[in-house]
Amino acid sequence: MKTRFAPSPTGFLHLGNIYSALQCAMWVKEHQASFLLRIEDIDFTRCRDIYTKQIIDDLNWMGFCFDETVLQSQRLGLYQDALNTLIHMGVLYPCFCTRKQIQHNTASSHATRLDNYPKTCLHLSSKERENKMKNQPFCWRLNTHKVQSILGDELAWKDGGYQSHVFCVQDIGDVVIGRKDIGLSYHLAVVVDDAKQGVSHVIRGEDLRSSTPVHYVLQKLLGYHHPVYIHHPLLRENHALKLSKRKQSLSLKTLREQGYGVDEVIAYIQKVDLLSSAPSVRSV
Ligand code: GLU
Repeated sequence: MKTRFAPSPTGFLHLGNIYSALQCAMWVKEHQASFLLRIEDIDFTRCRDIYTKQIIDDLNWMGFCFDETVLQSQRLGLYQDALNTLIHMGVLYPCFCTRKQIQHNTASSHATRLDNYPKTCLHLSSKERENKMKNQPFCWRLNTHKVQSILGDELAWKDGGYQSHVFCVQDIGDVVIGRKDIGLSYHLAVVVDDAKQGVSHVIRGEDLRSSTPVHYVLQKLLGYHHPVYIHHPLLRENHALKLSKRKQSLSLKTLREQGYGVDEVIAYIQKVDLLSSAPSVRSV
């Protein structure tokens, strides 16, 4: 049994991240499982080495023990191989639309999908597509219509309570699998790594639940095993706001600089943890 904690170094760790790491660590302890630290740093437009260093330092300071640490930026070739496989399978198509064009075209349609792209580029002729690929930047999108014809429309992922969560392939929308700027995507890298690193259980925040059907579909297409998914509630500040690096939530670095110790950090998390049972420091 193996799980992973997978922070993106786009900022310093905040208490919500620590809460998530604690959920993983408690599960590892309970199941005597392996614990992987995976730094998800493929997005070179937002990730910084200074954050990676601080994240690793903060986790050590908290007392987390990982069996291994890997950086996604050192595994780009693997993700590129998976992307090529999907392209050759014909389940991706190039999309040349700009963000502005998409916003304009989606104003009235499919508001419930994870991705609202109105499939404009799916309907290009092969000649138009070929010409555009020579002259314009593009991303690769999942052709859910094609995926549905291969896998069927109804699929189901499993959670930690062995419950199945049924979803329709069409409902995930034509999500971006290879971004225009970095060539890859979070979805692709996570799926390749969870498979190649033998992750049996994915423990992560509720905010990523909507990505799970996408990951399940990619696993099916690439012939990978399906991990069990456990989505924990999010730690909320001020009773409502989701903690996030972008909103400058209280970082662990700041708390450390202010002289707080590990026990006090845990006590603080227990205080704001209104949604689930609080973790104990002894679990780490
Ligand atoms: N890197 C993602 C994040 O920091 C987590 C990915 C995952 O757990 O699947 O939000």
